[in-house]
Amino acid sequence: MKKIILTGDRPTGKLHVGHYVGSLKRRVELQNSGEFDQINIMIADAQALTDNADNPEKVRQNIIEVALDYMSCGLDPAKSTLFIQSQIPELCELAFYYMNLVTVSRLQRNPTVKTEIKMRNFETSIPVGFFTYPISQASDITAFKATTVPVGEDQMPMVEQTREIVHKFNSVYGETLVEPEILLPTNQACLRLPGTDGKAKMSKSLGNCIYLSDDSDTIKKKIMGMYTDPDHIKVSDPGKVEGNTVFTYLDAFCKPEQFERYLPDYANLDELKDHYKRGGLGDVKVKRFLNSVLEEELEPIRLRRKELEKDIPYIYEVLRKGSEAARERAAQTLSEVKNAMKINYFDDAELIKAQSEKYSG
Ligand code: ATP
Ligand code: MG
Repeated sequence: MKKIILTGDRPTGKLHVGHYVGSLKRRVELQNSGEFDQINIMIADAQALTDNADNPEKVRQNIIEVALDYMSCGLDPAKSTLFIQSQIPELCELAFYYMNLVTVSRLQRNPTVKTEIKMRNFETSIPVGFFTYPISQASDITAFKATTVPVGEDQMPMVEQTREIVHKFNSVYGETLVEPEILLPTNQACLRLPGTDGKAKMSKSLGNCIYLSDDSDTIKKKIMGMYTDPDHIKVSDPGKVEGNTVFTYLDAFCKPEQFERYLPDYANLDELKDHYKRGGLGDVKVKRFLNSVLEEELEPIRLRRKELEKDIPYIYEVLRKGSEAARERAAQTLSEVKNAMKINYFDDAELIKAQSEKYSG
């Protein structure tokens, strides 16, 4: 069986370091590993509209931002297909048929959707499109016959829902769709990177992000204002590293060799943590180290972005070509789905023959 990737992001803002460690960095590694037959990276504008219906301009403006972030991180249009969800109408068609295979109570149990409904204060006025987005995500994944979905932990219920739909579809209509596997970050800190405010998740909607495109001064300011241990007041106080965002970011980003470069008094992160826990290590010193670590990772991305920003029409061209290629793939799957569901009337010579025999007396 071919190894195929499908993943993507909502164009609701620029991409942040949570996206980077949760999914984007891994995608680039997978792309360059040469182990995959096909890589599909989707800008999920239709999904973004499910909770931004009154703000289409926001979605429209952010398509290019996400595409620039993708390519500056190393996604290469020669190796990966970058495309825009709304340009593939076949995805809506698939979702419409999958809706018959899912119950309302099953959707209501989805923990990520539950949290997101609370976060957006929808209460009872949840748009139907938003409520059903896990089904639309199942069409995105299955349209490409994806075997592998590299995403953050919050996407686990979506991939699970997709597997259920595939299972149900194949058992009702015959083996047609492929069950995908989720690929989570292996580093615990990257599963769900907290925001700079210490809140559970860095998220565009919460305004607690370090963006990949932030300049070095902005990043420094954000790091200096970051949530640490509120009880660590004096340098001499013992501090906590669990739930301390600065240490979580170091868990996510720092490499052992960076100690020698920026903080030679310590051999590794464990030593630094031990000192913090004992007391006698100030937040500012740790934050400065984190700043150097992040700068090392983000500077090349920022420089590549500056280059890419010089030719915006080229980026749109990449997306147009990618969308064309993606549409062909989705159309192929849709045709197989319609055959399996026997809604392929005009291609079915048997059906036409049988019906004419019935009426020929
Ligand atoms: P929105 O608030 O509009 O939902 P978001 O910041 O949650 O935006 P998405 O586009 O929903 O971003 O998520 C894109 C991908 O990035 C998903 O694979 C998701 O799991 C991953 N991701 C998002 N935020 C984080 C985070 N803080 N830590 C790890 N992975 C994340
Ligand atoms: Mg999200």
